[in-house]
Amino acid sequence: MNEDNSNICKACIDVELPIEQVEAAARAAIKENPANLGLLPQQNFQAVDVGVLPPARMALLAGKRWAPGRTLRVAFMHGDPYVISKVIQFASEWMNYANIRFEFVNQWPADIRIAFLPGGSYSYIGTDNLQIPGNQHTMNFGWFTPQTSDDEFRRTTVHEFGHALGCIHEHQHPQSPILWNKPVVYEYYARMGWPPQQVDQNVFYRYSAQVTNHSAFDRDSIMLYPVPKEHTMDGFTVGWNTDLSAMDKQFIGAIYPRLFASARAVDGIRAESADFKGEIGKAGEEDHYEITVSEKSAYEIETEGNADVVVALMKKGDFHIIAQDDNSGKGKNARIRTMLEPGSYLLRVKHFHPSGTGSYRVKSKKVELAGVK
Ligand SMILES: [Zn+2]
Repeated sequence: MNEDNSNICKACIDVELPIEQVEAAARAAIKENPANLGLLPQQNFQAVDVGVLPPARMALLAGKRWAPGRTLRVAFMHGDPYVISKVIQFASEWMNYANIRFEFVNQWPADIRIAFLPGGSYSYIGTDNLQIPGNQHTMNFGWFTPQTSDDEFRRTTVHEFGHALGCIHEHQHPQSPILWNKPVVYEYYARMGWPPQQVDQNVFYRYSAQVTNHSAFDRDSIMLYPVPKEHTMDGFTVGWNTDLSAMDKQFIGAIYPRLFASARAVDGIRAESADFKGEIGKAGEEDHYEITVSEKSAYEIETEGNADVVVALMKKGDFHIIAQDDNSGKGKNARIRTMLEPGSYLLRVKHFHPSGTGSYRVKSKKVELAGVK
């Protein structure tokens, strides 16, 4: 029997945490990667302290991204050695583009735990994996056998590991152009035992713009599942995407950047008198500048220009984010005001949109901050 041509519906099911775990998951996500807090709507994002954000809001809005540079331990609950070797082979493709390392281990604990139980294929999304008890699997491949083709191993493995890294389904992109023929889609999935609400959640529901993978809908994304033309009103169709698209690679590189891969050295930047220009020359680029503080004071660091840049100020060495901002400055510019001790800091500048480019200027100076000692 040729497994890959069988009539099994190889759709991926979103697995979500029970509602009572969502708040704890959001706290864990922000602890794992403070940038997860940055996925708040722009107008509400101004140096919000985790402790004061209403828990329900935080739960809804926090991202699910691991800390860049993270090593994720991956273990198999069971499985055929050949099938396991294929999962390892294709999962590893992400490591070429993301500053994340999968370490395949034979013993617990493990961050990602893989099972091969008959049925669907699925994974928890990003840091939601932290909420799953260590003796339970977090990812499943329901139709892999030693007879599975390499194309199918690649397609499903890369897709599920994309979820584990925090990627969501591309057909649920806020700008998805898909006009579903809902009765046909309900009937199709009913044949695999999906109730209508599961179809709503996994097929029709669209994410808000804050949590999307890409700024534009990407029909080549590995996170898009095939769309037969009978499922749409206008004949829109998507074939089997079997590998990472250009935008997938760019996106994952932007959310898990290799620090300093595109670092710009500008000598002698001093926090009391910085004034320099920079440019996000290509999509996903992040510029890093070393800034020296010689005197304890409050400082203001702001950007100018038309590019919608986002800045983060980190302690040099441990990359702990001290302050970050998107739109507190003029127009869509960023402005940070914070107290700084003498030492070396890194200022990271990137575009708000993963595909955005443009030039900017950075200025900083000492300021008096009311109430800041
Ligand atoms: Zn999926």
